[in-house]
Amino acid sequence: MSRNLIVAANWKLNKGPAEAEAFLDTFIPKVDAFAGSADIVIAAPFVTIPALAAKLAGNNRIAVAAQNCSEQESGAFTGEISTAMLKEVGAQYIITGHSERRSIYGESDALINAKNKKILAEGLKPIFCIGETLEEREGGQLESVLRTQITEGLKDIDSLEDVVVAYEPVWAIGTGVTATAEQAQDTQKFVRSVIAELYDQATADAVRIQYGGSVKPGNAGELLGQEDIDGALVGGAALEADSFFGILENS
Ligand code: PEP
Repeated sequence: MSRNLIVAANWKLNKGPAEAEAFLDTFIPKVDAFAGSADIVIAAPFVTIPALAAKLAGNNRIAVAAQNCSEQESGAFTGEISTAMLKEVGAQYIITGHSERRSIYGESDALINAKNKKILAEGLKPIFCIGETLEEREGGQLESVLRTQITEGLKDIDSLEDVVVAYEPVWAIGTGVTATAEQAQDTQKFVRSVIAELYDQATADAVRIQYGGSVKPGNAGELLGQEDIDGALVGGAALEADSFFGILENS
């Protein structure tokens, strides 16, 4: 089954509009000269999205993402940003379930599920993150933790056509410790098997599952070469155009 790779940058709390534009000034010419076919996504802070979208108008290789959204439509929800607003300013994807949102901001599986449903109803695409802590992995809970996150996060979602799943072991995010290609492959194969149980084999075969966690140019080739790894979600190494492109070059 061939799935087109999807390589996404997660800039987290980095890069306002001016820095983002400078990044694109270096990055776009590299992508223009690159023959690969991977989908490329940049997830920027909310206020940076309009500048990115303006600079990428007419560019069909690089899509813009938000890193979060409200599960609500509108109203008295101070500080929140709706999916409709994000769509209006040019976001096509939205990250959900990132471990930083789960652990620092206490986002539950139920809230993440509500966000996934809202994003899909808006005609946008969630990049839905799942992943276990080191304690959970070492305590033999890897499969049960992932199974719960997948089952609850995708509850009442009939089609995964517009959903990208990102497997991000929490212990590998921003730590410099990468899962071995074998660990990532084994775990992503398991994730795909859970999706086959919940949906069907055709859905599991078609859904794209990214790996995230200290991906860099030096390890991207081996990771992206694994059968069940369909791309990467990249934090630290996506902050510089050269290193993000260095990852993309391995796709
Ligand atoms: C992330 O934040 O999604 C991530 C994978 O970060 P890093 O690449 O820095 O580990």
